[in-house]
Amino acid sequence: MVTFTEDDDTKFIIDEAPLAQGAEPDAYDSWVDPKEKVVLNAGRLQELKKKEKELQDLLALLRIEKNKELELKPLTIGVVGFGNFGQFISKTFSRHAKIVAMSRSDYSAQAKAMNGTYVPLSNPDRFFAQVDVVVFMVSIKSFESTLRNLLPAIKNDQRRRKAVGESGPLFADVLSVKEYPRKIMLDLLPEGCDVICTHPMFGPISGKDGWADLKFIYEKTRCNGKLLKGERTSMSSLRKQRVTVAGNQARKLVKGKYDEQPEENSSEKEGLDRMERFLSIWEEEGCHMEEMTCKDHDMFAAKSQFITHLMGRVLGKQNLMPTPVDTKGFESVLALTHSTNADSFDLFYGLYKYNNYALDTIFSVRSGIDEVVDDLRRMEREYF
Ligand code: NAP
Repeated sequence: MVTFTEDDDTKFIIDEAPLAQGAEPDAYDSWVDPKEKVVLNAGRLQELKKKEKELQDLLALLRIEKNKELELKPLTIGVVGFGNFGQFISKTFSRHAKIVAMSRSDYSAQAKAMNGTYVPLSNPDRFFAQVDVVVFMVSIKSFESTLRNLLPAIKNDQRRRKAVGESGPLFADVLSVKEYPRKIMLDLLPEGCDVICTHPMFGPISGKDGWADLKFIYEKTRCNGKLLKGERTSMSSLRKQRVTVAGNQARKLVKGKYDEQPEENSSEKEGLDRMERFLSIWEEEGCHMEEMTCKDHDMFAAKSQFITHLMGRVLGKQNLMPTPVDTKGFESVLALTHSTNADSFDLFYGLYKYNNYALDTIFSVRSGIDEVVDDLRRMEREYF
């Protein structure tokens, strides 16, 4: 029975006509208990449509305010490691921010093509003096040494910022493992440097036509010396929190006033604002944003991204070739083998070496093969 009891709109009561003997109930009848009466609430749909329209207007207003706010203070993003992935991401960044690239190799021309500038690794002071956000896009293997080599310049920059009352910068990484760069950044970076750990779950091939609906994982890690996350988080509760906060803010915005937030000092406010501006780039490009602890990321990735690369590498050792009898399934196998083996072995090694859960996956795959072979042998014994 369908009953609406929230308001006093006119109600209709429809008696269920009995089914003719032997007749099949249709899809609607099948979920209505024929013994019960259906109560329809006239006006309910109009009311819902009105509410939907109000929310759409609210959202349009919110977006205008948000875009105004973003345009007010565009970021300058420093990219350390301007290789294949660094350039791919920066090209899109350059639509929202000013780019300053720093890398071992000279990428002046590539940076210029994005209306950005290139600073050689040998001149880090000039790099840090310009940037709001520093994103490490170097290989996993070279991440720690690159950061260590930059530490004297980072410390100089912190002294300069303190002297002129400037906060930041925000440090981010895009490594395909997350607990490792989190630890390195928290251990090595001075407290004044904020930290966000991120993993865009896409690359130059999957993201060649845009980033819409591609996954972006992040953990807001540290702001103004305070740890923001680190414990395991329930994703559904985080999502609920975000929806509630967004809803409340939208309502306040339209009324033209914000509630007083709990007191944060100005560096903290600036730091959180910088993080939001950085995240907005990914949001505005349509990424599917997932906030998650670095630990959760690595646990999921061991049984998802790493196992994909592992199987691709194992299949790569089989010298598989297209044959005249290929099925769709086998074509997928060839595609997987091709795409995973096209990535650098450095990347595969990084996924294994710097994810605490990757070795468990290798053991589990090995014992999985043994179990399958045992099952086959058992059946052979039983039947023949
Ligand atoms: P990569 O081989 O992992 O990294 C190449 C980059 O690392 C280049 O910018 C290179 O600088 C720099 N680099 C390598 N060794 C270095 C060293 N000893 N010192 C300083 N810089 C060094 O390939 P990638 O695909 O470009 O990946 C970059 C990062 O993005 C990795 O951390 C990876 O996990 C992450 N990521 C990649 C993808 C993807 O689809 N490719 C997706 C998500 C995340 P030079 O070019 O100046 O030599």
